[in-house]
Amino acid sequence: MRAVVFEDIGSVRVVDVPEPSLEDPHDAMVRVTVGAVCGSDLHAYHGTLPMDPGERLGHEAAGVVEQVGAAVSAFEPGDRVVIAFGNACGTCFFCRRGQSSLCASFRNHGFGAAAGGLDGMQAERVLVPNADANLLAVPDNVDDDRAVFAGDVLPTALYGVQLARVEPGDTVAVIGAGPVGYFVARLALLRGAGRVLALDLNPERLRLAAEAGALPVDVGASDPKQQVKEATDGRGADAAVEAVGSLAALQSAAQVVRRGGTVVGLGVPGDETLELPLRRTWNRAITYRFAGVCPVHGLWDDAMRAIAEGRLDPLNVVSHRMPLEDAPKAYELFDRREATKILLYP
Ligand SMILES: [Zn+2]
Ligand SMILES: [Zn+2]
Repeated sequence: MRAVVFEDIGSVRVVDVPEPSLEDPHDAMVRVTVGAVCGSDLHAYHGTLPMDPGERLGHEAAGVVEQVGAAVSAFEPGDRVVIAFGNACGTCFFCRRGQSSLCASFRNHGFGAAAGGLDGMQAERVLVPNADANLLAVPDNVDDDRAVFAGDVLPTALYGVQLARVEPGDTVAVIGAGPVGYFVARLALLRGAGRVLALDLNPERLRLAAEAGALPVDVGASDPKQQVKEATDGRGADAAVEAVGSLAALQSAAQVVRRGGTVVGLGVPGDETLELPLRRTWNRAITYRFAGVCPVHGLWDDAMRAIAEGRLDPLNVVSHRMPLEDAPKAYELFDRREATKILLYP
């Protein structure tokens, strides 16, 4: 079958790989109908999450169950499903508390052996271990292109809004208005935020954020701190959600949040350490909440319901649809920030 693999820093290829087959009675085989390229994939592309040449990429996909092991009870061949970007046991202390990403057996799809070694999803088929816990049924009225967002992007955005403890009337700043930032803005407003400011450089992302109901702040054209101040009687935002994964974005979040406010580090950090102005942070009583990997299993039901009930339309952020074979071009576009979200079709 065909699959996207890491070749070298700045280079991916689509190659023939061996057909996967069930290895355990709890496994399911999913035929992918749509996969996606995600901001996190760029960490692999840039070498900040090191992968070996030939390792398979991709952790966002929806498709159809083709085969299930004897111990799988919740799914059968023919079921339409979305796959969790990371695989958890579903029964341990952390899984039962809705913190599946802290599960001792949590493994990522599509980031190579170092991250758990599970199949990449930018491929024709994906082997899903412990399928009962790691597949989510897709309702009839949700198409695959929308469903794929319930496997990572939407739960991650929901998680960010949860961590920001958004209360009705709050002002929320979102740093980075890519797909996750876009949905943080939408979900914060749905949760009753009085105002959301979306900080970004990219005109297309700012346009989308405005469409989502946020106040776009072009950080290239103006001083974001000043703009947020003006919108909050000089106080700053109640919460600031960093949805990029960079130190600069985290610093922006700290600059625009009010005294006593919450900074959420939602993006996967590209850096190992953070230097914190301790005294100032302490004096201002800022709460930092570092998200960790999103516990997708505790959030994806809500995400899917929001799509099914039409409260959110994930397709608003899709800028490109391409055949799987064009994955190298898709990564290039994405890396140059010329695409918001790319769907890939095997
Ligand atoms: Zn992703
Ligand atoms: Zn577990």
